[in-house]
Amino acid sequence: MLHYRVIGDIAGAVDQVSPYLRGAQTTWSRRRFVGWLALAVGALLAACGAPTDPQVEVTGPTMGTYYAVKVARPPAGLDAQTLQAGVELVLKGVIDAISTYDPQSELSRLNRNPSTDWVPISSELYAVLAEGQRLSRLSDGAFDITVGPLINLWGFGPQPKADAVPSAEAIAAARERVGYDKLELRADPPAIRRQRGDIYIDVSALGEGEGADRMAAYLESLGATDYMAAVAGTMRVRGNNAKRLAWGIAIEVPDPSDRAVQRILPLTDSAVSTSGDYRNFFKAAGKRYSHHIDPRTGNPVEQRLASVSVVAPGGGDSARRADGLATALIVMGEERGLALAESQGLAAYFIVREDRGLREVTSTAFARIAADLVH
Ligand code: ADP
Ligand code: MG
Repeated sequence: MLHYRVIGDIAGAVDQVSPYLRGAQTTWSRRRFVGWLALAVGALLAACGAPTDPQVEVTGPTMGTYYAVKVARPPAGLDAQTLQAGVELVLKGVIDAISTYDPQSELSRLNRNPSTDWVPISSELYAVLAEGQRLSRLSDGAFDITVGPLINLWGFGPQPKADAVPSAEAIAAARERVGYDKLELRADPPAIRRQRGDIYIDVSALGEGEGADRMAAYLESLGATDYMAAVAGTMRVRGNNAKRLAWGIAIEVPDPSDRAVQRILPLTDSAVSTSGDYRNFFKAAGKRYSHHIDPRTGNPVEQRLASVSVVAPGGGDSARRADGLATALIVMGEERGLALAESQGLAAYFIVREDRGLREVTSTAFARIAADLVH
């Protein structure tokens, strides 16, 4: 069952999941009466002085965007300085392995290596590439980590380019190098074999999720049980916040008059990721070109999907999975993306641009979670 509703107008920008920007945290629970109970208890506690447990939080730049971590009731000895140093080391490890923006990363070196033989790779890089391949099969090629030459050609790669539409010849030439079936992976020992020497792999669509997962693993290793770990719009949450409530994850949609339409998902033990075409795009001759490229056409996806959010049960590599899925669904588009979400039981939330506003579409699994939404 699908739910459609116009939720507002749009001026070009749709905001991102940003709980740390808003500090939004909900006091609502799934069922209404529990909500009332929470309110009543909340009022009672407010009367007695609301208990806010200790919390350590850090934030900073990473991967061309930012990270944010909050740990409620932190393990003994975990102060902000220690947390910051630890988190930044973890993120540096991710960048060293999979960034295409760092020419010295393992992936950048692999991309420069023209070998068509087996090349040994780290287990971290292997895991990310294997997830990319899994998503390609799942999305029938809509998601494809070999799409890099097209990403770069359209000016969405590490080298900034003038906003211009490439020639048909250049697109055709780049497409020759694209195709996930041109990659072969071996798990043990981890290695890759490429069919052509000029394959260029781009795992940017999984980077934020990988960062969030590795930060979560680090927090777990410290004994933290209540945290939120985010890289931009991709995050992991576990346990409860400092107010002993579920973490409130806000999905925001600003409209022309700046009337933010906001949903708050009270989440615990989950991963959330939002992909949008609003942060990274260019306009040429009045047309909008998104950084999501359809590997089959070689062109940016042309459709009205403004953003897709995916919520998944937490743990393990759930943020990386949610991150990749959000991108896969946005490339597939509303119809095919929704069909995949339904067939896989994915909790997905689509925001579709219409001439007269925005339309919200939710998968069945998301609608179940959305019973918790606070308006
Ligand atoms: P955002 O968080 O900015 O919305 P995503 O997680 O959706 O970003 O990742 C977008 C990036 O994914 C692009 O900048 C590009 O590097 C890469 N990408 C674009 N199209 C595809 C695709 N079809 N398959 C895999 N990766 C893609
Ligand atoms: Mg993504």
